[in-house]
Amino acid sequence: MDFLSLFLLYVFLVLLTILLVCFYSGRKQSIPSRLITCITQVLLHIVPSQVQGAAHWVLHGLFHKRNCTFVVLHLLLETLVYGEYSWEVFGYCQELEFSSHFLFLPYLLLAVNIGFFILCCKTNPGTITKSNQVQFLHAYAYDGVMFEKGVECSTCKVRKPARSKHCGVCNSCVHRFDHHCVWVNNCIGAFNIRYFLLYLLTLNSMAVSIAVLTASFLIQVVLLSNMMQGYYTDDQGQERPIDAFFLIQHLFLTFPRIVFMLGFVVVLSIVLGSYFCFTLYLILTNQTSNEWFKSARYKCSSSEDDTRQRGYKNIYSRGIQGNITEILKPIMSPEKKQR
Ligand SMILES: [Zn+2]
Ligand SMILES: [Zn+2]
Repeated sequence: MDFLSLFLLYVFLVLLTILLVCFYSGRKQSIPSRLITCITQVLLHIVPSQVQGAAHWVLHGLFHKRNCTFVVLHLLLETLVYGEYSWEVFGYCQELEFSSHFLFLPYLLLAVNIGFFILCCKTNPGTITKSNQVQFLHAYAYDGVMFEKGVECSTCKVRKPARSKHCGVCNSCVHRFDHHCVWVNNCIGAFNIRYFLLYLLTLNSMAVSIAVLTASFLIQVVLLSNMMQGYYTDDQGQERPIDAFFLIQHLFLTFPRIVFMLGFVVVLSIVLGSYFCFTLYLILTNQTSNEWFKSARYKCSSSEDDTRQRGYKNIYSRGIQGNITEILKPIMSPEKKQR
């Protein structure tokens, strides 16, 4: 059962990383964040205070200050997956005469993905300063619930336009703030959300294409070897027909790196695919992640003082076509009001 223990540990570590990223990305109301809060409460009673202090210092540096740690980790993971694909899977698939169009597809997607990744990192998301605040002040109407007119940011001292939010990591207010993404070390706002969506789409396509090619190769190996018609001897010395579980273990022992990589890209495809669908849903309904999480809090609110908040309605949706246009061509203040 060595394979199973190793694989479960690996899945656990991947899921733990995702939970940590969700929590420290500021999604305090999400289910993973609540789970992390519960685990943290338990750990606070077990772990010595010196270790807690060191862990807090490391996590604060990682998630609350702009740094390239996750960008480097992201590039490292990509290099490892593509290294394994090029070194083993690509050659084996060529031997099995897979179409070269399919074999080169992950490289094409990688080239496009790098382009959108750089655009996400380098594009100004819509930083609001005292000198440019008038360009954003009248872009959106204040809904009077989530966004109140005449509010000043206590840190930047700029007048806050509707739909903007101060990012504690970048230390600035951002126009149509969505979230701060540690993987691109930048805020996602009005001017780079379109690149972020395409970056997610190409990243997910990369993971899916490599997963499909790798799985096809392993299936082909099983079919060509006629393994499914064979028998194996179990721990009790009894001969049994080969089943799926035996097959997975056999493939893991024969192609350990390939099966390990396949597990990783499958988990990644599911996580990225779900996140891409969520981001697409927000775009089509004209909500930012920030607004979606806040509105969920309003809906859960039960106090009588929160009656006004419970009446929250998304006033920014302009229909699917209008919402997509807004992502491609971000809204600024009308010219006549820029005084
Ligand atoms: Zn601010
Ligand atoms: Zn930021």
